[in-house]
Amino acid sequence: MNSETTNETTESERIVERAREVIPGGAQTGLRAQAYDTGEVAFERSKGATLTTVDGDEYTDYHLGFGPIILGHGYEAVDEAARNAIDDGVLYGTGTAPLEVEVAERLVDLLPSIEQVNFCNSGSEATYHAIRLARAYTGNDKILKFEGCYHGWHDYVDVSVYPPEDGLGEGHPESEGMLPAAVENTLVAPFNDGEAVEEIFREHGDDLAAVILEPVPHSVGCLLPRQEFLETVRDVTADADVPLIFDEVITGFRHSPHGAQGEFGVTPDLTCVAKALGNGYPVAAVGGREDLLSQAGGDNKSGVVISGTYSGNLPGLAAARETIDTIVAEDVQGHVSDLGDEYRAGLRDLLADHGIDGRVIGHRSIFSVQFGVTGEPENYEDILGLDEERFHEFAAGMRNRGHFFTPNPYKRHHLSFAHDEENLAAYLDAADDVFGNL
Ligand code: PLP
Repeated sequence: MNSETTNETTESERIVERAREVIPGGAQTGLRAQAYDTGEVAFERSKGATLTTVDGDEYTDYHLGFGPIILGHGYEAVDEAARNAIDDGVLYGTGTAPLEVEVAERLVDLLPSIEQVNFCNSGSEATYHAIRLARAYTGNDKILKFEGCYHGWHDYVDVSVYPPEDGLGEGHPESEGMLPAAVENTLVAPFNDGEAVEEIFREHGDDLAAVILEPVPHSVGCLLPRQEFLETVRDVTADADVPLIFDEVITGFRHSPHGAQGEFGVTPDLTCVAKALGNGYPVAAVGGREDLLSQAGGDNKSGVVISGTYSGNLPGLAAARETIDTIVAEDVQGHVSDLGDEYRAGLRDLLADHGIDGRVIGHRSIFSVQFGVTGEPENYEDILGLDEERFHEFAAGMRNRGHFFTPNPYKRHHLSFAHDEENLAAYLDAADDVFGNL
């Protein structure tokens, strides 16, 4: 439980003040700095479902590092596997290592689209590689993505993730300093709109290199895909022989070891996985059809270059092997999905009890509370207009009562195998209290 706010400077505040001198915004990313909206915070320990600050304050963690922590912080078998890998050497960086083959074989076995796989260290690298493979295969430049989907920070895809209302329907760069040519080559469409995809293919089909999507877009909380939308996208891309990329950086291994592609029965050509693949260790992969991946099998003078000094880093792969095996052997997804249903149902009841205008959305281990909007959102436009101020109040109130999630109203809560009914009861009690004061 966190300490009451006093006039004394906390250790967290001192650290963040020092950080602001030497790190832009005082955190590694602007999104991380948003944690300070509810008070400066510096964490120094995590275990199970708990995050501990440098002041010794404990929070139940619903942030989980933006999603990678699926088994809980410090899951012993995973950490042990990583430690053993470190003992054998962190990086050989030449030839291949048995661990690479073992994890690659697991991805091939589990994810329907994957016949071959290349490792990297982050989701952004994976989507970058996927697009390069697709451009090489088609010889085309343009890609199509969907409003509200995030695929990483690079110029190809950091477009129209959170476009302003008057910027819908056109490529909106999310950052200054992006290459205009990259943005121009990224077309956008509303999620769940199969007709828009067909229209774009009629107009630009001959220039398209790839279609990329989060099969369940969680970058705006949660948009549930319509089955016919996923099938239309699959059919249209298959007819045009344009690779379909599923960005399963969040959904893969968090929602199912078979990914959303297994869950919805729609198989893409290329798949990106990261986050829950390694329960917090930096490991990611791009996989897919053999004819697409094998373009990267050259000698760096031919074919597609996929490179990275730390790609296939051994502690990351050891963590991935153990995380995958645990997810397959234990009922991790059953536990987090059932718990997710209980959080969602409890929160919906509380919103109704308190007469608060809002909705609870989500899928399996992920949920979001959005104030000032109702109904199930189908696309990014349906997210617009949510009450940001009220969410900030909610996040601050929950944090004061020992429950941490990022105070960004567009983001989401995550659950892990370490969360339990006790956490649920404490969370709902606190939410009841906070809703009563909103
Ligand atoms: N794709 C999705 C769906 C994501 O949520 C993220 C990160 O949040 C990325 C790609 C980028 O991954 P990374 O932050 O590891 O580069």
